[in-house]
Amino acid sequence: MIIHKFGGGILKTPEAVGQLADILRGSSRPALVVVSALSKMTNAFEKVARLWFGGQDTEQEMQLIRGFHFDMACRLFGDPDAAWGRYLKQIFASVQDLLLGTPLQPFDRAYDQVVCYGELLSSALLQTYFEENGLDHICLDAREMIVTDTIYRDGGVDWLETVRKIKEEREKTKEDVLILTQGFIGRAPNGDTVTLGREGSDYSAAIFAYCLDAEDVWIWKDVPGILNADPTEFTDTVKLDELSYHEVIELAYFGAKVIHPKTIKPLQNKTIPLWVRDFWHPEGTGTRISDLKVVPPTGPVFIRKANQVLISFQPRDFSFIVEGTISEIFAQLAKFRIKVNLMQHGAVSLTICVTADMDRVNSLIQSMLPKFRILYNSDLELVTIRRYTPEAIARMTQGKRIMVQQLSRKTARFVLA
Ligand code: ASP
Ligand code: MG
Repeated sequence: MIIHKFGGGILKTPEAVGQLADILRGSSRPALVVVSALSKMTNAFEKVARLWFGGQDTEQEMQLIRGFHFDMACRLFGDPDAAWGRYLKQIFASVQDLLLGTPLQPFDRAYDQVVCYGELLSSALLQTYFEENGLDHICLDAREMIVTDTIYRDGGVDWLETVRKIKEEREKTKEDVLILTQGFIGRAPNGDTVTLGREGSDYSAAIFAYCLDAEDVWIWKDVPGILNADPTEFTDTVKLDELSYHEVIELAYFGAKVIHPKTIKPLQNKTIPLWVRDFWHPEGTGTRISDLKVVPPTGPVFIRKANQVLISFQPRDFSFIVEGTISEIFAQLAKFRIKVNLMQHGAVSLTICVTADMDRVNSLIQSMLPKFRILYNSDLELVTIRRYTPEAIARMTQGKRIMVQQLSRKTARFVLA
């Protein structure tokens, strides 16, 4: 079995839906297809969730979302009075029902119940396309298969239950039928939808691969494979043909947008190779990620993470930063689910660089203020260079103010203003 994952980055136009179907028709192995929300629809639903939670009107944003889906569907299927139109309207009616009710608490829970509709709509649209174009398939709700805890917006997978449920669903399907499902979403035992973290559809693909002992996972993107830098920022990128699981975990951890960081572990555990392939040129070789022991040498790899804040904590009582203080700070970070992208400490100050998720960052700062003096810089970027050279460092730091720098044997990291 093979797992295909198609992300919103490529699913933007009717042509892309056709291309997706062509790719699936060309594959002779039994396949499971994971789709994420179309285009930028997750961002749009995020806005809706915020408005709803803030007691504001969601209609304008919902109109945009409806417009996008109906426009795409009309271009694919024609007359909206046909069955597909009723199907989409039914899904939008359930969103509307939800939004008419009082917002759920806390915000992260409300968020997940709204934002999941991006994936539910994209899979409904593809389901219709497959039906209209004679692609024999079944569409399964990922929430009936992926069982999570109630860490909303960052769901943890209950592996035992998930393996059981996915195998159970698989046994009910015909051996060679195409299975269509959503990425990014699962369900907690209390019945709530729980999302797996932004860009989490890659992780969903890995979960299905693990549970079904798939032979391969193919993640389709609008680039030829994994590149040594983001092609929207660099003109001279090169494709990396082969990478080890380990290297990709490092790259993802440092903020490369290649693959969701949680994706690799389940695949590594069962040595299932992951391919990143070129959606518009499926004949290309892509990048293969596997259990490589000897990694082929490449030049520097550049990763830029924008939207960073640097926060320094200084104990108000002038005590030193020792193990106790550090664990106190980290307990609060864990409480507010803030991930540290880089840290450094001296005698009387600990500095962390985190992504500017301001709801969380502000809560953290409020909770720390009684005991710590807090210094704060925003609008920063975190640059990581794997296998750095002096030229590579100069290229990335020129004309910028270096706020923090860390060099290890393989990796150079800079927080830049
Ligand atoms: N649609 C979700 C997001 O944009 C999940 C994904 O794309 O992987 O974050
Ligand atoms: Mg997406």
